[in-house]
Amino acid sequence: PHVGAGGGAGGGAAVSTDVRLYVTDRRLPLAAREAVLRPPSLVVGVGASRGAPADEVLGLVGETLEDAGLSPPSVTALATVDAKAGERGPPAPAERLGVPLRTFPAAALAAVDVPTPSAAPLAAVGTPSVAEADELTAAGADDELVVRKRKSAPAGRPAMATCAVARRRPRGRLAVVGLGPGARDLLTPRARAELRRASVVVGLDQYVAQIRDLLRPGTRVLESGLGAEEERARTAVAEARAGHAVALVGSGDAGVYAMASPALAEAGADIDVAGVPGVTAALAAAALLGAPLGHDHVAVSLSDLHTPWAVIERRVRAAAESDLVVTFYNPRSRARHRQLPEALALLAKHRAPTTPVGVVRNASRPDEHVLLTTLAELDPRSVDMMTVVTVGNSATREVAGRMVTPRGYRWQM
Ligand code: SAH
Repeated sequence: PHVGAGGGAGGGAAVSTDVRLYVTDRRLPLAAREAVLRPPSLVVGVGASRGAPADEVLGLVGETLEDAGLSPPSVTALATVDAKAGERGPPAPAERLGVPLRTFPAAALAAVDVPTPSAAPLAAVGTPSVAEADELTAAGADDELVVRKRKSAPAGRPAMATCAVARRRPRGRLAVVGLGPGARDLLTPRARAELRRASVVVGLDQYVAQIRDLLRPGTRVLESGLGAEEERARTAVAEARAGHAVALVGSGDAGVYAMASPALAEAGADIDVAGVPGVTAALAAAALLGAPLGHDHVAVSLSDLHTPWAVIERRVRAAAESDLVVTFYNPRSRARHRQLPEALALLAKHRAPTTPVGVVRNASRPDEHVLLTTLAELDPRSVDMMTVVTVGNSATREVAGRMVTPRGYRWQM
């Protein structure tokens, strides 16, 4: 709850080096050139006997915050039991603090476990704790009780008000951000905005390197090498659950053979999730080749690391039989040579040897390479893990050095 942003960390404009901005609900002494922003983080639960004077409740709330070193402008709501909504006790102080009064049924409050239950409110309104249960109910189950229930201390008569304070745990956000194939101008403005918004970025080191200059100063970067996908996904979700704004980044679209699925398999309803689509390798390659995806098409990964080869083969055969344009991802690595020739042979059973094939390496990156060849002439050695291979359907033609798949087969006749 206490975040300081040092000076000199400005994003562009000239910033003097000795300014300091705090974001906290705690009172703190400010020196010259220091400022504080108050997050809407506190909920005050109040309990009051019938006829409790508004001043007694208000006084107790003020003292409680002061003694705990908490700032009133961070209070977002007063909370109490339904039965009190019509009395003067709790509503008037809420009005004077300028925050809404949130009321809850006694049954809902009774269901909340509290550290300091007592018999008096149980008899009066049917719940053993008004103040503590109120603010835990208003705030949310994960929230932290920062001040336990305390009573007012009016001179010469019994206390009529109680009060407790909770800090709301901020709801975390996980943005799953596709960075595009490489070139900066193929990164969408929305992806850029999510990267600026993030306080934690999780991703493969080479992808993080691609966008590091776009991050805000102070952004925590959790990068890792190849593999460790599950762990990366778990880390991203855990950080969001802790209340942070997390960006999980991946090349192309982060949902295509990438991190979105393991992350969302792990994420619960307790965090917000925002997906930002990216330009995939298949689309970037297609734009370089011409218009190979003008009719129905499919992507197939030839990596048998997570998928048995028999399954991959069956899908390639189906694509061959149904005359789909096919883009192969992960087509060939140093250790995997066999898969691409076998997949091409399956396609060749249903397509002419002259069928155009596009080989695009490092699309939109500095060492981009584009090759247009045919099913019969493709040399697998021109293909590696930085490459996608797009094979045309039976209607795909080369036109002026470009790969063109007609929109309808009728045009062909
Ligand atoms: N999420 C990515 C794909 C990740 S799988 C996307 O949406 O594009 C990794 C495979 O993608 C690589 O083996 C390669 O086949 C392909 N790939 C990724 N970036 C590429 C690029 N810039 N040029 C060509 N192929 C690329």
